[in-house]
Amino acid sequence: MEDADFLWRRTVERLRREGIIRSEGVERAFLRYPRYLFVQERYKKYAHLEEPLPIPAGQTVSAPHMVAIMLELAELEEGMNVLEVGTGSGWNAALIAELVKTDVYTIERIPELVEFARENLERAGVKNVHVIPGDGSRGFPPKAPYDRIIVTAGAPKVPEPLVEQLKTGGRLIIPVGSYHFWQDLYVVEKTGEGKVRKRSWGGVAFVPLIGEHGWKE
Ligand code: SAM
Repeated sequence: MEDADFLWRRTVERLRREGIIRSEGVERAFLRYPRYLFVQERYKKYAHLEEPLPIPAGQTVSAPHMVAIMLELAELEEGMNVLEVGTGSGWNAALIAELVKTDVYTIERIPELVEFARENLERAGVKNVHVIPGDGSRGFPPKAPYDRIIVTAGAPKVPEPLVEQLKTGGRLIIPVGSYHFWQDLYVVEKTGEGKVRKRSWGGVAFVPLIGEHGWKE
């Protein structure tokens, strides 16, 4: 793991130098929870590379720069109530937890990945992430309203329930676009009941959000 750790530190330094990691909080979270802790043994040696990596059930864990960009857009602060949609490996949820230092809720639709993420989080020593099985396109009403909702799968449109479950002043980060790996990364701010301001950060590539308010299976 020494090599993986050395390579990971170099990746974090580069992300910082390139201005992709801009805050001390995101840098600290990246150093505390390297991506190699959240992939299967055979992929650990690639964890520092700027590409998505396979995780079980044909899904992926995003590239380091993509995760950093989304976390910086979210501007997370201690104590914020955050929902993540698309747990995958659990890596992004661990990073969120390190930033908000309180309970984090993350939803995953594939049971195999619920287990995979829970194991990874336990092994990494993350205690404040709750992995919930289910369709995250409906949000997670029991813990709403949220300061931030971060969706790590591409939706055909912004799911209404997610906007409803945001606090006024809250922010939703979500890729919206086509099914096959081309979306705009939107930052949706809830400015009042039924009112949002939406801006696009740029083009991204995510696996599809599948569910009632996402793509149909
Ligand atoms: N955030 C993850 C990580 O850190 O490893 C990577 C997520 S991966 C790019 C997208 C995940 O979203 C997949 O695990 C997929 O099964 C999940 N997903 C897709 N549609 C979903 C839905 N409606 N509800 C919950 N999870 C969903």
